[in-house]
Amino acid sequence: MIRTRIAPSPTGKDVHVGSISTGLMNFAWAKKNGGQFIIRIEDTDQTRIVPGGEKKMLETLGKIGLTADESPLVGGPYAPYRQSERLSLYKKYAEELVTKGKAYYCICTAERLDEMRKQQQKNKQIPKYDRHCFHNQEEVIKKIKEGTPYVVRLLMPEKEIVFEDLIRGRIVMQGSNLDDQVLLKSDGFPTYHLGVVVDDHLMKISHIIRGEEWLPSTPKHVVLYEAFGWELPLFAHVSLLRNPDKSKLSKRKNPVWTSDYIDQGIFPEALLNYLALMGWSHPEGKELFTLEEYIRVFDLKDVQTTAPVFDPVKLEWMNGLYIRNMDKDALAEKIQAFIGPAYPKEIIAKTIPLIQERIKKLSDYLPLCGFLFEQPKQYEVDLSKYKTVLQDVSKKVGDMKDFSLENLNGVLIACAKEAGMKNSEFFMMLRVAITGKKISPPLNDSMIILGKEECIKRIGKA
Ligand code: GLU
Repeated sequence: MIRTRIAPSPTGKDVHVGSISTGLMNFAWAKKNGGQFIIRIEDTDQTRIVPGGEKKMLETLGKIGLTADESPLVGGPYAPYRQSERLSLYKKYAEELVTKGKAYYCICTAERLDEMRKQQQKNKQIPKYDRHCFHNQEEVIKKIKEGTPYVVRLLMPEKEIVFEDLIRGRIVMQGSNLDDQVLLKSDGFPTYHLGVVVDDHLMKISHIIRGEEWLPSTPKHVVLYEAFGWELPLFAHVSLLRNPDKSKLSKRKNPVWTSDYIDQGIFPEALLNYLALMGWSHPEGKELFTLEEYIRVFDLKDVQTTAPVFDPVKLEWMNGLYIRNMDKDALAEKIQAFIGPAYPKEIIAKTIPLIQERIKKLSDYLPLCGFLFEQPKQYEVDLSKYKTVLQDVSKKVGDMKDFSLENLNGVLIACAKEAGMKNSEFFMMLRVAITGKKISPPLNDSMIILGKEECIKRIGKA
């Protein structure tokens, strides 16, 4: 049975787009193979928890379509799916390792560890725990019984640690270079390493597909699996998303939270489509495809190790293609859902032919079409010198019997000619009078949508 998972920590205000990208691979791999996709919350670093972060993360993952078969929200056979609710388990497993001689208690104070590190730095040694407590376990245990706070450390074997990564191939690391990792902290919480191994094992995760930032941790996990005598899952470490300048994706350059994009009116399916192309390409070179199709053609072995570039400009471009390919009615509905019920659907529907090719995301709509719903409050150009011309236009438009697009074109061209104005200047003036702006969707069509009365009102006001 294929079982995959994402194990986000609620240390930000929402899910990072990078987590959606690896989440998508996990989701696809499970679904493709008739398996299960699990969401587990890793909230053991209590100092870094952002209040509300977990709720928002789960909400966003649902909204975007990465629905879990098992999660803190829907439960499942291996519940609870939140690490802070599994503390007694980790303690039990840490004790088991101590009993087996694979881990030991340590009561070193922060001051001692600091001093030790300074010395090691001075001597140009690899900074790692010097096993002071390991060599004095009897005494350490006595002190623990008297109430001294302690941690549990893994006894890192001094041997070569080898594992196969499904994307990166064979990885070899020297155990002697690795620290005796803390597994259980003095507050009773596990570290990431113990929590992740215990849970991935108990939750029967078959494939661990995660970001490459966890690759240096994996040898420690391999040692833990061996220490417990558990079967190793398969590992696949995917490359991290980069900014277009190849720097690590960070919120200083572009938004990194998934909801930042959704809230701008990027469609979840377009975001998934774009993220699917991070480190993977469609076997037929297709750019646009559905989640269903992705699941069908995705294969872990095709994931590349080159750093994928996450470019919000390209994402918007792709979202624009989704908008263009949409049924007009469906687009009007999406726009209304985005801007709110105060904007009548009939008017939105009329604007679709004017904007479908122009907007790239739903938040582009109101800046472009807002004028159709309310009169301009200000004008980008001072229109005072056009007073007489505008009065004339108002009269000629007022006299129109059949306020149709063809008739209006004819009337306006005639007005421009009579005023002795170039068409470009004339229509700039009229555009500003009607919309308040120098740039708008096609003016004559917009005037037809507004209707004759409203146009006259606006010209009069201008
Ligand atoms: N809790 C880790 C995170 O925040 C999970 C890493 C893993 O997938 O093992 O990304």
